[in-house]
Amino acid sequence: MPRLLILGGTSEARELGERLAARADLAVTISLAGRTARPAPQAVAVRVGGFGGTAGLADYLGRQRIDALIDATHPFAVTIATHAAAAATAVSIPLLALKRPPWQPVEGDRWLDAADRAAAVAATGTTPRRIFLALGRQDLGPFELAPQHTYLVRSVDPVIPPLRLERVTYVCARGPFSEADDRALLSAHRIDAVVAKNSGGPATYSKIAAARHLGREVIMIARPAAPAVPTVETVAEAIAWLDHDHAFTAAKDRGV
Ligand code: NAP
Repeated sequence: MPRLLILGGTSEARELGERLAARADLAVTISLAGRTARPAPQAVAVRVGGFGGTAGLADYLGRQRIDALIDATHPFAVTIATHAAAAATAVSIPLLALKRPPWQPVEGDRWLDAADRAAAVAATGTTPRRIFLALGRQDLGPFELAPQHTYLVRSVDPVIPPLRLERVTYVCARGPFSEADDRALLSAHRIDAVVAKNSGGPATYSKIAAARHLGREVIMIARPAAPAVPTVETVAEAIAWLDHDHAFTAAKDRGV
């Protein structure tokens, strides 16, 4: 039976697994990096932890006789995306990237574009403000260079060690959040500006909609460059690729 590995850690990867779980013609495994203490449950087999770079991933793909790889990791997870591209080439299996489209500003948005985290820190300015960092734990460090602000940090797992900043409130919560919740959060903490990564997708959009509604600024960090591989934006397109494009064909050609 053809074997598919999905590089996950996103709602799209989980949904793709759910849609493929019942299929008798495909064996599916989702790979998680192991970043969160209590990951969301998955409908298919799961493996957890890094592979050990490109070579480790290529070795895994070969040993597990994986026939096709779908990189459904987060659009900001470019290290694993780059490893996936190189490893798939090394073991000659088809690779598809499933990446949700970025958000676009709409009427009423007050976005400041930042090329990366350092630019986002600079964009917060020198005047003390109240800032909501809607970022992953690994993205917070650069804000220690801007101790003049008062921060609100929301993360799935606690931020340990805490940031070396005097004025930080931590909120532990797992999305998706509603716009009403996020409006209440921004109002309660009198937030002046939200710093967000342009992740795209509905699951984390509520803070952007809430900021628009309240007329607050959003410092939007642009996506890093991704490797040039065939890419789709939706789970349905990924399934169509599996059914009508390379993966099954390649596996069948090899007599799997
Ligand atoms: P990254 O910087 O691209 O990858 C760092 C290392 O983590 C990789 O070299 C790899 O280790 C390991 N890794 C990443 N994703 C993996 C996966 N799905 N399965 C096995 N190993 C994986 O990744 P990141 O930005 O730290 O993100 C880590 C995970 O969190 C990803 O799965 C991503 O989908 C998810 N996530 C990330 C963000 C974000 O903003 N970056 C947001 C939401 C979810 P080895 O080199 O040892 O193989």
